Amino acid sequence: MTKLIARVVVDVALDREFDYRIPPHLADAVRIGSRVAVPFGSRTTQGYVVGLADNSPHPHLKEIGDVVGKKPLLSDKILELARWMAKYYCCPVESAVKCALPEVVRKAKVSWKERQFAKIGQITPAEFAALLKKAKKQARVIEILRREEEMLVADLATRAETDAATVKKLAEKGFIIITDRVQERDPFGGEAFLPTEPLPLTAEQQKALDLCNAAIDHPDKPVLIRGVTGSGKTEVYLQAIDHCLHQGKDAIVLVPEISLTPQTVERFRARFPKQQITVLHSHLSEGERHDQWHKIRDGESHIVIGARSAVFAPVQSLGLIVVDEEHENSYKQDETPRYNARDLAVVRGKLENAAVVLGSATPSLESFYNAQRGRYTLATLSQRVDNQKMPVIRIVDMRQEAIRAKGLYVLSSRLRDAIQARLDKSEQVILFLNRRGYATHMCCPKCGYVATCSHCSVSLVYHRKDDKLSCHFCGHHETAPKVCPNPECRDPAIRYSGIGTEKVESAIQKVFPKARVQRMDSDVMTRKSLYREILGAFRVGKIDILVGTQMIAKGLHFPNVTLVGIIHADMALHLPDFRAGERTFQLLVQVAGRAGRGDVEGEVVVQSFTPYHPAIQHARQHDYLGFYEQEIEFREQLRYPPVNRMVCLTMRGRNDTKVKFYADTLARELKKHVARDVIIGEPGPAPLAKIQNYHRYQLILRADKLLRLTETLSKILPTLKPPEDVTVHIDVDPLSLL
Ligand code: ADP
Ligand code: ZN
Repeated sequence: MTKLIARVVVDVALDREFDYRIPPHLADAVRIGSRVAVPFGSRTTQGYVVGLADNSPHPHLKEIGDVVGKKPLLSDKILELARWMAKYYCCPVESAVKCALPEVVRKAKVSWKERQFAKIGQITPAEFAALLKKAKKQARVIEILRREEEMLVADLATRAETDAATVKKLAEKGFIIITDRVQERDPFGGEAFLPTEPLPLTAEQQKALDLCNAAIDHPDKPVLIRGVTGSGKTEVYLQAIDHCLHQGKDAIVLVPEISLTPQTVERFRARFPKQQITVLHSHLSEGERHDQWHKIRDGESHIVIGARSAVFAPVQSLGLIVVDEEHENSYKQDETPRYNARDLAVVRGKLENAAVVLGSATPSLESFYNAQRGRYTLATLSQRVDNQKMPVIRIVDMRQEAIRAKGLYVLSSRLRDAIQARLDKSEQVILFLNRRGYATHMCCPKCGYVATCSHCSVSLVYHRKDDKLSCHFCGHHETAPKVCPNPECRDPAIRYSGIGTEKVESAIQKVFPKARVQRMDSDVMTRKSLYREILGAFRVGKIDILVGTQMIAKGLHFPNVTLVGIIHADMALHLPDFRAGERTFQLLVQVAGRAGRGDVEGEVVVQSFTPYHPAIQHARQHDYLGFYEQEIEFREQLRYPPVNRMVCLTMRGRNDTKVKFYADTLARELKKHVARDVIIGEPGPAPLAKIQNYHRYQLILRADKLLRLTETLSKILPTLKPPEDVTVHIDVDPLSLL
């Protein structure tokens, strides 16, 4: 039965659904997910139909003006996912819908690209001879088209060294025929890949695959694969996807944006027919994004690989979602709505009755906790394939080194010797440090002055190449002073301390003048193609030592890399965040996993000032379970996630007093209303108390049951509007508390 009323979320009004009457002539066309034009106030705007009803509590309804586009953009299931998201993450339905649809699709800004193709028409030998005499270029066009079946007009003109107008003149005479046709913009256009066959699996891989396939056939619980680096998780995904396709279903593979490298993508493209795969990454042009989205929605593509937002890919018949490196922070969106794509994958799997497979060498405490409690099925790959050994990890106590060297320096003698040994054997080295720039801060040894950003509460980082101090939060930069800027001091001995990748690069260059050293961080990556170029050069052995930030920590696979050096393992360890230990452990294990992936055993040298910290010691032993047990105990004691659920409210504004006052008021009000199991922290300045001149206060809430917490928030917040220039951000399941 057709419905009379449509609930519409309009583009211009947040978080409200408006009822409109469906005029009889549109009765068949209006569906959930339809894009519609509706009168709103004195103008017409666009929106989505999010629901249909028989009646409305409002007596005087306006009518839907028109349906835009032929098919609804949102399937019922994706719409359901968006609603779930809005409720769970306390955000407006409209912003959840926005996440689910790429902007180019939503705003219908671009469409399929129609292009002109030319083929040969009717031309007699006499006519051709005449052309040869009078119009050489036109004759050339004909010659080319006689050889090529069909060509893009633009390409044809280039080939004939003429312009499109000349080509079109030939069409007027009927010598050639020009037609308009849709041409799909394929970002991988001409590339070809050597096809690969499924590999015979190890016993552990087979067991993991069986669990995945069982989940595809009878979706039940998500499967968590914990597999050490190099254990062949990707091969398991590939074969599970194959099984999924054989059941006539589609698969989505989520990878962190940073590992959406040609190397990862190639492995998928080489296994499955090219036309079945769509890769969604942030480098696509708007046109490419539009085409790929529609290709998926129209059922022409059965495997989608992409970063976070690919969780919303409109595949027609979902059978499997794989989330690789499920512990990665980049699955979490860092603006409203702050969703985690891994968690949405689990929800979408449930809604669409599809299997969900999460994989990692270092699962998040959240996922492993779920596995321990029986909510996920656990599969373990404990060995590297081919019985390659895990790399040996040696820890260097930098406190001892510092005493010997009388001050901080970049390379310990142990790491220096290890590098030399590898260079002698023509093997390759990766050096990792998660801080770009030259020096992490600039301070005066005499008066203690530290250069800080005037807009943010962080110290400025020195970049030597352009002799600037720069803020990594707001981008502010200034010329580095030659003497201490403190007017009372003015000491010329002001110096740079702490190390960044730029300094590592120059130190290495000094110690090993003959080595070919390349740095890779976001300062160097000024063009998007550079990533590919540098990794390509490294692969073929044109670079001996690669120095980089987290850009080089993940997913890369270079058989000739036998040594990985971690310059400063403690960098993230002392941040005021309860996940600092977990992050450090994950990072060390992942970076160490880059070593020894070929025939030669790998070695890892970790430099640390806190060598006995459990995160470092467990990483040294490759002991995930040991780390987990100790860490979960600490989380249990303090009732931190994953044992309890957490919501972080951040209040920000330019006036410190106003923000503080609002934070206090909100905390007091919430305390009156929340359930008894909810723990409300003291409102206080965030660890990064100021960013871009905005003062930030934090309020952290914890509870056994998240829903009770968010329901209270959704109720209280609207009644307690913040003062004019103060805003509140809600972060459910926050990953960063800075
Ligand atoms: P992970 O994703 O767990 O780090 P990969 O999937 O990258 O591991 O596997 C590491 C290497 O081992 C790859 O080169 C892969 O082709 C190879 N490999 C995976 N499974 C097998 C297998 N069963 N037999 C032989 N080689 C395998
Ligand atoms: Zn700043």
